[in-house]
Amino acid sequence: MIRVEQHTFNPFQENTFLIYDETKEALVVDPGCYFPEEKERFKALVKSKGLNLKGIISTHSHLDHVFGNHFVMNEFNVGLTIHKEDLQTLQLLKFTADKYGIPDVEESPLPTSFIKEGEQIKFGNSVLEVVFVPGHAPGHIAFISHEDKFVINGDCLFQRSIGRTDLPGGNMEQLLKSIRTQLFTLPDDYVVYCGHGPSTTVGDEKANNPFLN
Ligand SMILES: [Zn+2]
Ligand SMILES: [Zn+2]
Repeated sequence: MIRVEQHTFNPFQENTFLIYDETKEALVVDPGCYFPEEKERFKALVKSKGLNLKGIISTHSHLDHVFGNHFVMNEFNVGLTIHKEDLQTLQLLKFTADKYGIPDVEESPLPTSFIKEGEQIKFGNSVLEVVFVPGHAPGHIAFISHEDKFVINGDCLFQRSIGRTDLPGGNMEQLLKSIRTQLFTLPDDYVVYCGHGPSTTVGDEKANNPFLN
């Protein structure tokens, strides 16, 4: 069974997810730790639970979701997996951080592998399915556990809201289509973990999300 821990980091209040199962093998989704104390807190978390961190997987490469890439990759000697369509965004990290006036951002190392829709991510005894959900970012993907009934969906769908589409590569029509075809087709009881704010469920958002009614 996969345990999902949500930790909120950086000035954008981004949710980083540490996921692991009974084998203690772990992955981190979107490490957003930015301030030195956030990086230390993340490191202490992994150590205190005795986890064997196997890698980083990114829902997308907006700055708030990749601030911690450099630290985590170096500290734990792990790789980074993203969708190819978000490589350019990742490479523009410093440039974008300058634009937002955010100092002391460490450049992300390049990805060590690319992944796309239909593929699986394996760790410990667990498996995640990858779906492609562009619209908020061009290479946005989400990670589904059918066994444990959840999806980690980054900045696609939020509780009663959706991701912004005014950033480069954003497209409102595409985002709504991604949510309808890739997320709302999941069973109602699946938990939806979001890149910002609290988690929700597929059924709850189908019934109550004002952007999709
Ligand atoms: Zn984003
Ligand atoms: Zn975000």
